[in-house]
This record gives sequence, C-alpha cells and structure tokens, in this order.
Amino acid sequence: MSTAYLNGEYLPLDQAKISPLDRGFLFGDGIYEVIPYYSGKSVGLIPHIQRMINGLAEIEINCDKTLDQWKVLLDDLIAQNDGDNQNLGVYVHVSRGTDSIRNHAYPIDVAPTIFCFTFAIKDPEPVNREIATTYTVTTTQDLRWKRCHIKSTALLGNVIHYQQGHASGNNECLLYNEQNELTEGSSVNAFIVKDGVISTPIQDNQILPGITRRIIIDSIKADGSLKLEERTITMEEVHNADEVWISSSSKEIAPIVAIDGNNVGDGKIGPIWEKAFAIYTAAKFTHS
Ligand code: PMP
Repeated sequence: MSTAYLNGEYLPLDQAKISPLDRGFLFGDGIYEVIPYYSGKSVGLIPHIQRMINGLAEIEINCDKTLDQWKVLLDDLIAQNDGDNQNLGVYVHVSRGTDSIRNHAYPIDVAPTIFCFTFAIKDPEPVNREIATTYTVTTTQDLRWKRCHIKSTALLGNVIHYQQGHASGNNECLLYNEQNELTEGSSVNAFIVKDGVISTPIQDNQILPGITRRIIIDSIKADGSLKLEERTITMEEVHNADEVWISSSSKEIAPIVAIDGNNVGDGKIGPIWEKAFAIYTAAKFTHS
C-alpha cells in the first residue's frame, strides 16, 4: 500500500478519509496537479507548484504553503514511496475544505483539504519513431467552460470529452471552439506540424497552461534548430497537417497517427516528432 499525505499526516492510502461535506466532493471546488518523477527526478516541479499556487489564488482558496514547503512535501512523499527505484506520478489536490453545511458561498475560516498520493507511471518512450507508441484521436466541439486555464478538480466537461474518444477505441479527443479553431485535447495540449514548422494554440482561457507544453516550447526555442509558433490553428489545418502531437506530464509528447479514422500524413510517426522529442528529453530535467 502506498503512503499518502492528508492534512499534515502521512498514512497508508486506504486509510485516508475525507468528509462527504468536503467541497471538493460536493462541488468539485478545488485545484489539482500531477507531477512526474522518473527514478526520483521530477520534471517541471517548480512550474507545476507555481501553476497550483496561481490556481488557488484565482479561486480564492487560502492555502498558506509556500513553494518551498510544497517542494519539500512532494519530494518527501516520493522518497517515502521508494521513488528512487521507480517512476511515479504524484497527484496533489487542494479543495476549499469541509464545511458544516452545503452552501454554494465560499465558507469563512475553513481550512483547505490537502491530499496527495503517488502512482506508477510508464517509462519514457524511446526517442525513435520506428518503435515509439502511436496514438489516435477523435474530434468534437469543445463544450467545457470558459476558464480552462484553471486546473480545477471539476473535470466533468473533460471527462465527457475524454470518454467520446475512449468509447470509440481512441486515446484522446481533440477539441475545437465555435470558430472551428483547435483548443486542446480533453487531458492534453496539442501541436501540429506543417512543412517543418511546429504550431500550437496560443495560451489563453481556452486551454490549460500545460507544463509539458511549456517545456516543449522553451526547449525547442533554446535549441534553435526547429521553428515553432504559438498561433490560432484551424481544424482544417489540423486535418491537413503532416504531424499532430499531444502533450501532457504522463504522455510527454505523443504522436497522433490518425484523426477520426483518417491518417495523419502517411499514418506513421513523423521526423519532426523525433527531433522535438530528443530536444525535450535532453532538457526536461533541467527545466524549472
Ligand atoms: N490540458 C488539459 C485539459 C489537461 O488536463 C492536461 C493535464 N493532464 C494538460 C493539458 C497537459 O498539462 P501538463 O503538461 O501540465 O500535464
């Protein structure tokens, strides 16, 4: 049984108990993070914690832990779960806390609930387009809310979209807005490649500020050998792209070979994916 953290205490995961009056349970009123650790080494730990602190401030949850305190807590939890000898993700969840009644208004003087646990994650993919895992997606109109930049625990909109891809045997569902522009996937950011140029949607309220997205952009710009643009992307461009990728902390950069049953490019992983993934892989542990 893995060791979890709940409100200041380390305990076996199956002994962690939360009240049904917790606002995370009743309203999905909370912020969460998922941070990958490979053999004890984290990827993007500081930006992940900073994104959570920003999200908590935006929805006015008063959590007094500093960035350094979070870092110590999470590194400690990884160590307690034998993180040096395996790849682990750590899930961090801060809800507004447990009230004595069910009431929409933010309660006063209620301490947030802080819950963290670890889980096994896969080895990184090989940087080799002949053998790396391929992914397929469906597409649908993005029917989530207008605050997708907040990493809220209220994920039903995302869950419904994920299920649309999953139910038809695909790995994800790419989303587009009312203007037929790509936003992101239900649990991933998205990239396309056309004529050697990588593009990804602009960071605004329609997408999560993905940490993997950030590391990809920064490392590719620092390397300088590939061209990358942040811009509006139409779905027509997505369907005509040479390559399409999705990114997240658990999938890193995942190549899409079919969209709605149609091949992307020649239906194989493209050469720019391999170059970009090599650049990302070389940079990921140094990014903070
Ligand atoms: N978009 C959404 C909607 C997500 O839930 C996630 C995380 N699973 C991402 C993008 C990717 O973010 P990150 O790279 O920080 O994992």
